[in-house]
Amino acid sequence: MIAIGLPIVTVAYNKDTSPVKLNLGVGAYRTEEGKPLVLNVVRRAEQMLVNDTSRVKEYLSITGLADFNKLSAKLIFGSDSPAIQENRVTTVQCLSGTGSLRVGAEFLAKHYHEHTIYIPQPTWGNHPKVFTLAGLSVKYYRYYDPATRGLDFQGLLDDLAAAPAGVIVLLHACAHNPTGVDPTNDQWEKIRQLMRSKGLLPFFDSAYQGFATGNLDADAQSVRMFVADGGECLAAQSYAKNMGLYGERVGALSIVCKDADVASRVESQLKLVIRPMYSNPPIHGASIVATILKDRQMYDEWTIELKAMADRIISMRQQLFDALQARGTAGDWSHIIKQIGMFTFTGLNTEQVSFMTREHHIYMTSDGRISMAGLSSRTIPHLADAIHAAVT
Ligand code: PLP
Repeated sequence: MIAIGLPIVTVAYNKDTSPVKLNLGVGAYRTEEGKPLVLNVVRRAEQMLVNDTSRVKEYLSITGLADFNKLSAKLIFGSDSPAIQENRVTTVQCLSGTGSLRVGAEFLAKHYHEHTIYIPQPTWGNHPKVFTLAGLSVKYYRYYDPATRGLDFQGLLDDLAAAPAGVIVLLHACAHNPTGVDPTNDQWEKIRQLMRSKGLLPFFDSAYQGFATGNLDADAQSVRMFVADGGECLAAQSYAKNMGLYGERVGALSIVCKDADVASRVESQLKLVIRPMYSNPPIHGASIVATILKDRQMYDEWTIELKAMADRIISMRQQLFDALQARGTAGDWSHIIKQIGMFTFTGLNTEQVSFMTREHHIYMTSDGRISMAGLSSRTIPHLADAIHAAVT
């Protein structure tokens, strides 16, 4: 029998009948009331699309909606990006972040001379599966230091320095999942120098642009540093979190090439990857994104709503930290406010996590990762009590 189902944490949460149960395992934004959020600007764009009776449901081309692709490249690389102006970027619409990673990985497995990808330890659980099934061989570089609950920068540099020249390196553009730990700009610059000096190929996973700091440009800084040096790179973009379009499956893969001729040949090869996979991508979500990105007023409205989501998460960090301080909970919890993005890597161990689930009905992944977006001012005292009890 083939077992198919929801993530284990969600299954256990659904079965729990306690009125105080709390699911912090889900990687999706929730409002202060614990509800999923559809952005107003998204509702407005959808309404415009519905009202436009000239719109039809014909197939898109293999590479997707042209406007969407252009606008997505500008969003991540910057509207004044020389790489875009020099036509060195090829962008294809894909099935959200996951699909963009998969298409990029299949392309690399077919056409790139190296078939090894280095990914951070730890990383998003789907990364090793996506890359392995695409035909790449997965190796890890050090990323997280449990002692400081911060970046193991020296370990990262040592592992990349020891990697064979030319291999692919997966980098989280911002808001690293699951740790919430990002390199500083100075550290990014050192990583860039090392990678370029060894000819390592950067493959950026950008699932949280704007969701980390609330600023779309700041969250794309790492990618832009690598593009500014004129070298090659790949970037997988997702609109799941920053536009709340989770189930619409909207994303893009961009490949920054040496020159316009390579970019156009890369596009032909990407079509050959996509055609037998799903023929062409869906039209609705990409139309929503393009409608918002091409209209100045809607774009501004989006940035305000996006910042509100990011700010709510940042405020949850502060409130949880304050609540633990107020309880005099043993240990240093400053990493809660230092980490960034949707997740906090609490540092709680597997036993502490199961204690919190068993005794306090709080659900999270067994590595101690909690989704800050799943918290509210109302639920923070309950979580703080549970953490306090778990570490005492
Ligand atoms: N990459 C990272 C690091 C993620 O955390 C996620 C989602 O959680 C994704 C990619 C892909 O998400 P989606 O396929 O929903 O865009």
